Amino acid sequence: MITEKACAKLNISLDVSKPRPDGYHDMIMVMQAVSLCDDIEIEINSSGKVFAKSNLKYIPSDEKNLAVKAAGLYFEALDNRSAGAVISIRKAIPVGAGMAGGSTDAAAVIRALNRYYGNALSPEELLKVAERTGSDVPFCVLGGTALAEGRGEILTSLPEIPECTFVICKPEFSISTPELFKALDRIKLRSHPDTAGIISALENGDLKQICRRLYNVFEDVPDRRMRTVTEIKQKLLSGGAEGAVMTGTGSAVFGIFTDAEEAYAVCSQLEKDYGFCVCAEPVGKQI
Ligand code: ATP
Repeated sequence: MITEKACAKLNISLDVSKPRPDGYHDMIMVMQAVSLCDDIEIEINSSGKVFAKSNLKYIPSDEKNLAVKAAGLYFEALDNRSAGAVISIRKAIPVGAGMAGGSTDAAAVIRALNRYYGNALSPEELLKVAERTGSDVPFCVLGGTALAEGRGEILTSLPEIPECTFVICKPEFSISTPELFKALDRIKLRSHPDTAGIISALENGDLKQICRRLYNVFEDVPDRRMRTVTEIKQKLLSGGAEGAVMTGTGSAVFGIFTDAEEAYAVCSQLEKDYGFCVCAEPVGKQI
């Protein structure tokens, strides 16, 4: 039995270009791995088949589950046709929250299998398997703090974010990613994140300057649900957060706190108000 933690990701910033000819959008994102995580257990067998089990009934058990797809692609990269696996996933990361829940389970499977096979693939080869699995998977394999560009596969590790506490709140609704991209194509963006400013604030270890620059262009989409996002951000800020922003395509929103006690107090209030709220810490690089 192999075990691995699958850490959630948060977007410190998220910028999107106009759609490319292939329909995809180029992204520029500063990403952060955090301690909120799913637990993965893998039993390797020689059936040549991979399937997943989860504590949540609606999580797919076949190739639609990114963790299953990742294992298949990892075995293919090793040219091992007889290898099979049963992947057990205990979900703690809310589904459809913009925290890369499925991608991080896939990434944990890739890292865990490589450990089991004695680091048969180099970090570069692991990132290739990750890229074939899905857009956010390379960052989730790498972890820490990183700049992600292109579809998310062009990664540059950045200095670790200074010590802080994240308060992550997910309202009950989810927001569909394709729907939000379509809505974004119909509007002219008011503004863009100061990505260079965030990178230099990370280099200077200046948390306040990072927090001043939290920005996600998806918050500009005219959608009724963004009112709840704004409301949660306001509650985080009035509870002492240095900054607050929506992650990915939502619906989760997080605030960054320097005072852990303030963070825990706001967290318990927001859990009562919205159903899901947890505190988490930054997590460093994984490979
Ligand atoms: P992202 O931040 O990458 O946009 P998300 O956090 O918003 O993703 P996920 O939690 O990854 O969204 O789930 C989105 C969909 O992916 C769900 O409908 C779910 O059925 C499917 N899915 C596939 N594999 C998994 C997995 N291992 N865990 C959770 N959902 C998965």
